[in-house]
Amino acid sequence: MRITAVTEISVPLEGEIANSLVSFAEHDVSLVAIQTDVIRNGKPVTGFGFDSIGRFAQRGILADRMIPRLVAAAPDALLDASGERFDPQKVLNVVLRNEKPGGHGDRAAAAGALELAVWDLNAKLGDEPAYATIARHFGRRGRPDGVAVYAAGGYYYPDDSTQRLVDELRGYREQGFDAFKMKIGGASLDADLARIDAALTVAGDGRRLSIDANGRFDLRTALAYASAIEPYRLRWYEEAGDPLDFDLNRQLADAYPGRLATGENLFSVQDVRNLVQFGGMRPGLDVFQMDAGLAYGLTEYARMLDVLEARGFSREQAFPHGGHLINLHIAAGLELGGCEAYPGVFQPFGGYPPGCGVGGGLVRPTSAPGFGLEEKAGLRPWLARVVN
Ligand code: MG
Repeated sequence: MRITAVTEISVPLEGEIANSLVSFAEHDVSLVAIQTDVIRNGKPVTGFGFDSIGRFAQRGILADRMIPRLVAAAPDALLDASGERFDPQKVLNVVLRNEKPGGHGDRAAAAGALELAVWDLNAKLGDEPAYATIARHFGRRGRPDGVAVYAAGGYYYPDDSTQRLVDELRGYREQGFDAFKMKIGGASLDADLARIDAALTVAGDGRRLSIDANGRFDLRTALAYASAIEPYRLRWYEEAGDPLDFDLNRQLADAYPGRLATGENLFSVQDVRNLVQFGGMRPGLDVFQMDAGLAYGLTEYARMLDVLEARGFSREQAFPHGGHLINLHIAAGLELGGCEAYPGVFQPFGGYPPGCGVGGGLVRPTSAPGFGLEEKAGLRPWLARVVN
């Protein structure tokens, strides 16, 4: 068994939305395909992956460095001991050859897209959904009946209004979601409190509403928001300060009794180790949002969970950033706390196909082989394009 082609394309995200810091209008995603010489139904078995959403495509790193290394590798050097599956760790070692440690930026996302495509490929070779492959590999039972899900949205739009926010969250509720997340920090504290009040008219209870500052605040502002929102008893307060300012996070955790969430911008095991050592995160309370697609893939992500569990945290505290099918399969396979969904935004990657049956606070993967990306109608034309 060998790889016959590895290809990538950059796919633009649809929509003109913004959080407190960045507009997504220019964002794109690297979609990769790993084709093999295994033929099923007249077609080569192909693994697809992408580097999560809300960032940028990694065309140069993939095309100039990583894909040439992967294509040049000896076929046997990429297989596991059975010789019947690809070994994600070996693939990762090959694509990272000659790369120095540290500096976990865009490179981590490029490698993540390729590593995740290997999981899609392995699941398809076994003709099973990826969560089952993942669960077996890591010795877990998995959660085929579904994982907790919430609808993420509540962005700032050019023609913004609290009514628009209410209408948006109401739409998610009608789609079966019962928990929500919205952005803060793109307006004044008073204006954001008015937005939170408006959102609570739909969410009904602070325990069903999270807020996300996208790393915008300095310590003073983070603390001011913390004391203003404390009476709401919100579900969580996400990424108040710079993702690498662990001391800010620690001081915020000291001052704010509610749940904090962070980690989506930590791209390595070492960064996570530093967060748990210096960031004041509290076992049994706070939420970790590392995202395999931004951080070298699932192999590295599983090591992050090991770090958390060794320090007294539970994998139930892990809710990966990036509401899409790949992270749904990861959350179900590894029995995580849950995952997010972007039902209205970040197309064609965000959200879940109808078969995933959102309802009762849960979303479940379908039994389609691999990550089931082929079930997402808006994505299918891109999957066809990346292999041609
Ligand atoms: Mg976030």
